[in-house]
Amino acid sequence: MLDDFKEEQPIVYRVLKNAINKDKYSHAYLFELNGYAKGLDMALAFAKFLLCPHNYTNNENCNDCLECHKIETNNSLEIKLIKPIGEWIKKEQLEELQREFNNKSLTGNKRIYIISEAEKLNASAANSLLKFLEEPPEGIIAILLTDNMYQLLDTIVSRCQILSFKKNVIKNGSTIEKIGNYLYSDSESYTNFTGDVGLKYLEDVTSYVSFLEKRKEDALVYRTKGFLETFNDRKKLAVAFELFVLYYKDVLNKLLDMPLEYFDDYLTQINEVTKLNDVVKVSNKIKILTSLKTNIKYNLNANLLMDKLVILLSEV
Ligand SMILES: [Zn+2]
Repeated sequence: MLDDFKEEQPIVYRVLKNAINKDKYSHAYLFELNGYAKGLDMALAFAKFLLCPHNYTNNENCNDCLECHKIETNNSLEIKLIKPIGEWIKKEQLEELQREFNNKSLTGNKRIYIISEAEKLNASAANSLLKFLEEPPEGIIAILLTDNMYQLLDTIVSRCQILSFKKNVIKNGSTIEKIGNYLYSDSESYTNFTGDVGLKYLEDVTSYVSFLEKRKEDALVYRTKGFLETFNDRKKLAVAFELFVLYYKDVLNKLLDMPLEYFDDYLTQINEVTKLNDVVKVSNKIKILTSLKTNIKYNLNANLLMDKLVILLSEV
């Protein structure tokens, strides 16, 4: 029920509720989840409201409605949920969506498609979606969900109403818990990360940065190989770059006399790196890291990427 999200996500709730009250909807919403685990549930609750002939008000249970029942059992023809198959969302999935949604709704109702992990649209799927967003058929509403908005095409983002979810930040916790919570919204990945995996990641990332800052000319030769053994696929490398960014953000916090957000457990290293930098330098480094991270999605030669990283950072 949509009302279940009133407390946890007051702003997104208000925006959606306002649309309902005015019966005026965007043709595409982008849920920027910021690690919030129940974004998909909220999208479905919203869809349910739109489709239920009783205008399921969320205050009472709509047990006897066929449409609600279909949604709950994943059988509604008016909702299409698209998720990555393997690593990517593929063009065929978008084509199938367009085929199905080009026929008119059976109930004359709205139709909703939800794209979960939208950052995993591959290039041709993204272009296919873009065409659909440019000429939205009547009554169709798109809801895109993502934790990494900057990995989406700008042209897609610009066609959506962005709803930014409240970050679920834990203030007191170890570095690994806070980062695990930031990176992962499902408990399995979180548990996996907060075990040995994440500790090794943090160790490798923090020592790579220290090395890079202190002996940049040697970093490629001595360090990159071991680093790429830990981060040995695209997904892991994306996490490494996410960690680089969070790390430098904390260096920035330190420079600005602000409390650290994540890397409290690595204070010695943070202090060392802080001494070698200033605010402008660190801001530029964060920019470089963020833009390199985007490249990981498309074409990746890991060694070239690391070369580029070392070169660009040493020019700052
Ligand atoms: Zn219903």
